[in-house]
Amino acid sequence: MAGSQLRKFGKSLIVIVAMALFACTDSGTEAAGATDNKVYKWRMVTTWPKNYPGVGLAAENLSRYVDEMSNGRLQIQVYGNGELVPALEVFDAVSRGSVQLGHGASYYWVGKVPSAQFFTALPFGMNAQEMNAWLHYGGGLELWQKAYAPYNLLPLTGGNTGVQMAGWFNKEINSLEDIKGVRMRIPGLAGKVFTRAGGESVLMPGSEIFTNLQTGVIDAAEWIGPYNDFTFGLHQAAKYYYYPGWHEPGAVLETIVNKEAFESLPTDLQIILKVAARAVNQDMLDEYTARNNQALETLVNDHDVQLRKLPDDVLKKFREITDELVDEIAAEDPLFREIRDSFTEFQKNVSNYHEISEKAVYEMRDLD
Ligand code: CA
Repeated sequence: MAGSQLRKFGKSLIVIVAMALFACTDSGTEAAGATDNKVYKWRMVTTWPKNYPGVGLAAENLSRYVDEMSNGRLQIQVYGNGELVPALEVFDAVSRGSVQLGHGASYYWVGKVPSAQFFTALPFGMNAQEMNAWLHYGGGLELWQKAYAPYNLLPLTGGNTGVQMAGWFNKEINSLEDIKGVRMRIPGLAGKVFTRAGGESVLMPGSEIFTNLQTGVIDAAEWIGPYNDFTFGLHQAAKYYYYPGWHEPGAVLETIVNKEAFESLPTDLQIILKVAARAVNQDMLDEYTARNNQALETLVNDHDVQLRKLPDDVLKKFREITDELVDEIAAEDPLFREIRDSFTEFQKNVSNYHEISEKAVYEMRDLD
């Protein structure tokens, strides 16, 4: 009898201790996750070719940072475009939970979420520094989370390319007339602007640009900037390289997390994932800033690329159409309107100071 009672007592003790431990972990009041030694093996799909420089390496860097910070407790296997899903199905794959993570650009999804445009770039909108400020200190990230909540997704920043190039054209653009009939790879709202200006926009992932431009399926294409455009060999498919990147003055990339997968992580791994995403976000901008001009010099000096600035009347027309289109979508879509208001208010505010800081510094450097 005594032995049986002792065994019963022993079992009860184990249950009580286990419950106490569970309660402790669950409350999150202790160092959350410290008692959770479970290894999470996640998959991350991207819209980029595997190991593609710049935008593509962000996912690889995120995986490495998370692995190192978590001491191997959160392991992320990264898949390039087409390895698990095609580039333009990344959003859906993460949304339905087939994979836990994705990396791409929010404006690829404007067909589903029109307001997603603002979280990559608004034509004539904010630059990288300003976008980061809006997202992290101006309520932008919260609005992004609101826009993606119905899709079971938690968005985080995933990089920034800085100011992009306006793109590659197989002929010179000297006036608005020259835009007419031009088929251009240009995603998102800017594509709509280009179409309304008389051209025709086409959406395709980066990996398909070179062949389509070279074979004449398209006449023009924007991709990113000198560093990445060079790696795709776009200078071998079109001769004229135009600036400024009116359509993407500071394009943000996205890291998207399946919400249930995120919530299944202990708190410390959630924080590690968020911090790694933020680190990747800044790292990409640093890399482009360091490498773009070297690549531009190579393109111009060694490959006879013709560098051109888009004429002012073309840029003015694009800006006018951008304003029209934004107003039209805002009139029909309350969430788009809410985000537009936040974005434009923030841009106005930040621009006022940048007139006498960033812009004044550029002007100061040009003094004779
Ligand atoms: Ca682009």
